[in-house]
Amino acid sequence: MRRLRLPEIGYVAALAACSVIAIVAGWTAPAAQLDNDAYDFLFRLTARPVGGAEAVVLAIDEPTLVALGGMRRLRSIVAQGLERAASAHPKAVVVDLILADAGEPTEDARLEAALSRTNNLVLACNLVGGNWEDPLARFARQARAIGHVHADPDPLDNVTRRIPLEKATRAERRWALALEAFRLARGGGPVLESPEGVEVAGTFIPARRTGEASRSMLVRYFARPEQARASMPLVSILELERGRAALDELRGKVVFVGLTAQSAPGDRHATPHGGGRQLPGVEIHASAYETMARGEFLRPVRDSVVLLSCLGIAAAAGITFAFLSGWVAHLFGALLLVAVHLAPAALFRAGLIFPYAAPLATAWLTVAGAATYQHFVVRRLLRRSEAARSRYQQAIHFVTHEMRTPLTAIQGSSELMGRYALSEDKRRQLAQMINAESKRLARLIQTFLDVERLSEGQMELKREPFAVATIVESCLERVRPLAERKRIALLKGEIADAELVGDQELMEYAVYNLLNNAVKYSPPETEITISAQRDHQRLRLSVKDQGIGMDEAELKNIFRKFYRTRRAEASGEAGTGIGLAIVEQVVSHHGGRIEVTSKPGAGSCFTLVLPVAVPAREVKSRR
Ligand code: ADP
Repeated sequence: MRRLRLPEIGYVAALAACSVIAIVAGWTAPAAQLDNDAYDFLFRLTARPVGGAEAVVLAIDEPTLVALGGMRRLRSIVAQGLERAASAHPKAVVVDLILADAGEPTEDARLEAALSRTNNLVLACNLVGGNWEDPLARFARQARAIGHVHADPDPLDNVTRRIPLEKATRAERRWALALEAFRLARGGGPVLESPEGVEVAGTFIPARRTGEASRSMLVRYFARPEQARASMPLVSILELERGRAALDELRGKVVFVGLTAQSAPGDRHATPHGGGRQLPGVEIHASAYETMARGEFLRPVRDSVVLLSCLGIAAAAGITFAFLSGWVAHLFGALLLVAVHLAPAALFRAGLIFPYAAPLATAWLTVAGAATYQHFVVRRLLRRSEAARSRYQQAIHFVTHEMRTPLTAIQGSSELMGRYALSEDKRRQLAQMINAESKRLARLIQTFLDVERLSEGQMELKREPFAVATIVESCLERVRPLAERKRIALLKGEIADAELVGDQELMEYAVYNLLNNAVKYSPPETEITISAQRDHQRLRLSVKDQGIGMDEAELKNIFRKFYRTRRAEASGEAGTGIGLAIVEQVVSHHGGRIEVTSKPGAGSCFTLVLPVAVPAREVKSRR
């Protein structure tokens, strides 16, 4: 397998970091609230009216209370309702009132009698301070089951999206009112339990156990039609008093008796219906029952599946931008984002609750991260190729520039030899000249190639010791003809008996360049001094001229490729502005630096400060 390169590792690491941030953010409280809001929104988007429900609310509503004596006569009202309802033979009856205290004796007696004649009766209990608040024994005796009335409002926004199916004190566990009603309506068999849910008469109710007595079920609420009083079918006890039509609505149904009057205390809850409308508890229990009766459950997707999906999204984003580029990559990135936005809505319709926050954050962060990373990678590649191109151009300039001198000599000499009858001596002299110049040409090309490779970091610098005096001599020798043409005196100052370590060829090139510049940019009949002084472990090799000089601003630029001062241009001397750039490179590769002092019209001094080689014997004697 191919080994990963650094940018690829960086890419994977950047995407991994994006995913981790997104996933961690996806499990925070604000993300949970976002998921809640998305859930409610999707609920409102997809909710249908109930139509043909099995559960009916028998409501103690405002008109009922007003007509039949108010809250103080509540038990009589319920008894009256039950007496009436009995003739419709409901499948089961749930009384969503806590009947824990003794009331007015005649009322209680009437209620007891009504309860005793009720088929499949479920009474309500309430968990208060760790104890069950149960119906009085006289009432409880009439019930086939007792179920708890608790809702499970979300701790973040207090909206009741789920009901706890079970609640327990230390001593006793109770099923939810709706579950007990469902059990009785389906023949009264047992509730079978498994970690993923409970089963009643062949209907599996998904409610994962998350701790001790802690399973809960998402309630599939129904939409409330425009004119309707509730989202569940609703008949008031007063209507039951007044006509048979209302009674027919209860026939064979599971009846949930409870308070819906606005003036009645407590027991109203916020639901995904939103809009500030609170649903009476009895309607929530009836909706929960209907959810079970229809088997239209809402199942939250497991956290592990969500996590895997997030990783899948991150991988998709990564692969998209790794293998595609330009607008195609962005198009696929956008498609991925659209898919992640739509997926929870599509899944909601199928009854699966998939969160928004974590997958969405993952998709946005990884797509943006991958796109940004690729953008910078492309930019860097572009910069590199630009740099390579301009280096190549410079190289061409440099070669043509530097080749001109030896070529001119070779041309001139060969022309002389061809055109005139020359003495044997002269011919030999010219032949030697041609030979020497062509060797220099070859050396030049070699040097140039070395410098190129050096700047690309492809070449190991040669590391051999050489005497400073040797390169000074050979450079002086080479530059002398040019100097003589301008009658410039080449003076030799102190030349230390020191050795440098590195590439002699390259160093010679550097020193020759300084001398060549000094000659080029000096007027005739001036002096150029070269010296090499030792300063502790450093060598200061200076070339000083009395030429045109440079000002401060120009000094800052002379090591830039292609830069030439205006004075140099005006001098009429040919130049490309590359020489010093290469000198600087050579010197820095040797661990040295260049100092320049100059004044316009007053000459310049270029000093190479280089580390001196420490001869083996010196090292020994120092020990
Ligand atoms: P070139 O000499 O081919 O133009 P260099 O890179 O060697 O290129 O030098 C860059 C510029 O620095 C020159 O064009 C010139 O303007 C300035 N310069 C270099 N050496 C001297 C000098 N000794 N005196 C005055 N100006 C100089």
